[in-house]
Parts: sequence; C-alpha cells; structure tokens
Amino acid sequence: DDHGVAVVAAVEAIAERIEAERDYLTELDSAIGDADHGGNMARGWAAATEAARDLDDPDPETVCKTVGKTLMAEVGGASGPLFGGSLVFASAELDDGLTAESAVAFAETYLTKVEERGDARVGDQTIVDALTPTVHTFKKSIETDDLPPLEALAKAVDAAERGVAFTVPIRARKGRASYLGWRSVGHQDPGATSVLYILEELLATAA
Ligand code: ADP
Ligand code: MG
Ligand code: MG
Repeated sequence: DDHGVAVVAAVEAIAERIEAERDYLTELDSAIGDADHGGNMARGWAAATEAARDLDDPDPETVCKTVGKTLMAEVGGASGPLFGGSLVFASAELDDGLTAESAVAFAETYLTKVEERGDARVGDQTIVDALTPTVHTFKKSIETDDLPPLEALAKAVDAAERGVAFTVPIRARKGRASYLGWRSVGHQDPGATSVLYILEELLATAA
C-alpha cells in the first residue's frame, strides 16, 4: 500500500544518511568503544534496504519486520539486537496500518523493548537517552496537544537532538563505554547519534 511504499523510501533515505555519517559514527565509537559503530550500521541498513526493496506490495508492518530481522542479522554487536530486535517486536503495533495512534503505540513498544533488552534507562549514555525524549514528546504531541503527525514528529526530532546532547556530560553505565568509567564523560554516544539520524530521515521523507 501507499504507506508501505513510503516506509521503504524512508529506509532508503536512512541507509544513505547512515552511509554518509559512517566515518563520524565510527569516530565517536573509537573514543569510547571499539570503532565499529559506523560500519555496523552502514552494513545493516544497506542490507535492510535491499530486503525492503525485494518485498512486493509492502505494508508498514512487513517492512518494519523485514528491516528489523535484517538489522539483527547484519549489524551485530550490542546495537544489532537493540535496534533490530526491538523493531521486529514493535512492528506488530502496525498490523492495522500506519496511523497517528498506531505510530504512538509502535514508538512506545519500541522504547520499552530497547530498555528491556539493554537493561538501560535514561542517563546511562545509550540509545535510550535519544529514544526516551523522542517517544515521550511524540506521544504528548499527538495525544495531549492534538498536533498533526508531521508536527509531532518534528517536535520529537528536536527532542532527540537534546537527548543526544545529554549523553555528552554523563557517564556510561551500559555497553562498552561503561568499561571506561568516568573517562566516558564528555563523549557523545554513537548509538544515540544514529537514532537521531534515523529520525531526521524519517521526518525528511514524511514531509
Ligand atoms: P558494540 O558496542 O558491540 O561494538 P556498536 O558499536 O554497534 O556495538 O553500538 C554501540 C552503541 O550501542 C552504544 O553507543 C550505545 O548507544 C548502544 N548500547 C550499547 N549497550 C547498550 C545497552 N545495554 N542498552 C542500550 N543501548 C546500548
Ligand atoms: Mg562498537
Ligand atoms: Mg563491536
């Protein structure tokens, strides 16, 4: 359907952006990790794009499930199961199609699954720091402020940007960066940065 085709276009845009930011993401990961985040994500999203393009008559749920499975298989590391596995799980919220309401349910389920799988909370210097303000802002914008989906998504992306900035002055408590202890303070989290790029491309393709 039309929404499925739009989601495939978003996946293509995300893959392109991640490829363009690949070196920067790896640079961030080299400071507090093992310098593979850019490569991990670029490989995963390139494969996800191919898998999504191969679907005939795609619908949003199937595209998200396919992309999630591919990310799980191709990204590896800590981030593969977090980004991909959570996407597979949350895709079920789109089984009746993509609406403002189902998008909120999808976002909430995705965040909950990431928290569960990674055992991370806000303040641990992980992707949860980007996802939490994004999901909370999106939900409030739709459900409380009655904003149109595109405006809600724009506000959510602004919130993600602040979430990424928040990872800099705090200490990592999960993932490889946590091995550095206090030396992780002052560094921007690579995974949270990827989340921001993904959201920026979602907004750009939805607009
Ligand atoms: P790896 O650390 O295995 O090399 P990547 O470099 O691809 O994997 O991804 C690192 C990113 O994964 C981190 O920047 C962080 O955002 C995210 N991450 C790591 N562990 C967790 C966790 N337990 N919960 C949430 N996010 C995490
Ligand atoms: Mg790494
Ligand atoms: Mg690694």
